[in-house]
Amino acid sequence: MAFQNHKPIVLCALTALSLSLTAPAIAAPMPRLVLQITIDALRGDLPTRYYDRLGEDGFRYLLDKGTVFVDAHHAHANTETVVGHATLATGAHPAAHGMVGNVWYDRTKGRTVYNIEDDSYKLLTVGAGVDQDAEIDSTQKAAKTDGRSPSAIMVTTLGDELAIHTAGNAKVFGVSIKDRGAVTMAGHAGKAFWFSKAGGEFVTSSYYYNSYPAWVNKWNNEKMADSYSGKTWNLLHNQDTYLFGDADDRPWETDLAGFGRTFPHPFGTADGKYFTTLLTLSPAGDELTLAFTKALITNEKLGTDDIPDYLGVSFSSTDYVGHIFGPSSLESEDNILQLDRTLAELFAFIDENIGLSNTLIVLSADHGTPEVPDYLNELGIQAGYVEPKSWNKQPALAALKKQFGVDKELIVGYDHPYVYLNHEVIKEYNLDLRQVEQAVAQELLQFEGIAQAISSSALRESNLPDTPLNQAILKNFNPSRSGDIYLVFEPHWFIRDFDGLEVAATHGSPWRYDTFVPIAFGGMEIPAQHIMRRVHTVDIAATLAAYLGVKPPSGSTGMILEEVFAEKEK
Ligand SMILES: [Zn+2]
Repeated sequence: MAFQNHKPIVLCALTALSLSLTAPAIAAPMPRLVLQITIDALRGDLPTRYYDRLGEDGFRYLLDKGTVFVDAHHAHANTETVVGHATLATGAHPAAHGMVGNVWYDRTKGRTVYNIEDDSYKLLTVGAGVDQDAEIDSTQKAAKTDGRSPSAIMVTTLGDELAIHTAGNAKVFGVSIKDRGAVTMAGHAGKAFWFSKAGGEFVTSSYYYNSYPAWVNKWNNEKMADSYSGKTWNLLHNQDTYLFGDADDRPWETDLAGFGRTFPHPFGTADGKYFTTLLTLSPAGDELTLAFTKALITNEKLGTDDIPDYLGVSFSSTDYVGHIFGPSSLESEDNILQLDRTLAELFAFIDENIGLSNTLIVLSADHGTPEVPDYLNELGIQAGYVEPKSWNKQPALAALKKQFGVDKELIVGYDHPYVYLNHEVIKEYNLDLRQVEQAVAQELLQFEGIAQAISSSALRESNLPDTPLNQAILKNFNPSRSGDIYLVFEPHWFIRDFDGLEVAATHGSPWRYDTFVPIAFGGMEIPAQHIMRRVHTVDIAATLAAYLGVKPPSGSTGMILEEVFAEKEK
């Protein structure tokens, strides 16, 4: 067995490096399945906040029996979904993997692009693309095609490396409600499935398949989403047992399409315009993901032979619930408790079919989440919403034109956090890019909520103080996609406008509440321990690569989390 030769080699090297660890389990078998779970927007404190009401077999399977890193962070500045997922999958910073934001301004196309849009491929289901009328995810609306692929990811993922290592024999999959959550985890060599709100089913693109596998058609034909028609999202337990039990109706919560601010939240009927959207704003979104994942494990026969397979599953409901109701809400609390049951069901299913002792599990999040400003204000903490649309920009723009003697616009785009300057005009007038960046940055600093405006030229030339914030912005800087100025809002200040829809909270900042995520390893012979030292999300791929004996992904800069290799106490 070729695979069983790799682990000892890796562990010998580790032993030399880490004498403080107990003897590594050299005889430990290779996993049959690597299960990389991403909980969208699960800030590091959220599972433990409700620890006393978690079951033993969900989060606590990892928290109590696994190796838990309690001070884990994303190291990049723009804590958005595709950025975090790509970082978890590749072990690279966005500077290398290139997914610098959910959208960016594409200078060659002259427009804002959505991260995984690709007109070389098409969605396999006609009419299941983004519904411009009903889509509340404003970043999705930037896409000019329904085609999706991983082409924009500039480096390999852990799943890619496993495929390379096994002559393509490892099965590699990514599943999520969100297309970008699935495509990133599947990498270039794997297969991705995501939920189409327009179609009410899981879909993929012609990048991955020419036609759906029979089991996918069968699963979709069962119309699981429709089974929620006419139903409501109800609390799992008695309301008075919740931390936020007496705070259901808060004025800052978004009341979307009749979903309401209080329990029970009605999904409406299956023909409703926002029906599938409302499912994703509740634990139902994760239940759909779980059901599809179970069907995938069975039908694709994951974990059934000695060649390790890789499955990336990203659960999206926590993110949507956080955006609409805030992370300190009765809805968020109940969602975590229901997610705990969803995880327990997934672990039980894997134990039954593959064995948890044959499965290496790692759970993390693509980013954290901020608190709702009004909630913080109630507690005496300053916070607020930034409203770029209401800024009076004309005086600043006029001043810039005057300063540089130009009569054309110097700014071509603002896709937060990046401001993109007009390089053609700068060239035409023979201006110094760096001077223009600094002048624009200076003008931007006068607007409410902006803490810093960092010039990309200054970053490139290392002309900035070596602060953690500048380091995070540098790790986010990819020369072909990043803008010319990086805007940082004050802590607890953010944009709430989702293309007309006012949401309660929006992540994306480099502040701690947005970078802080859980990292927990479990399954196999992973020891039970809590590790206090600072670690980063880029370390996950490096650790998985070492565990599997494959080379690290091409842009990976993470360090191996040695504790994961320590021997389990018998
Ligand atoms: Zn996210």
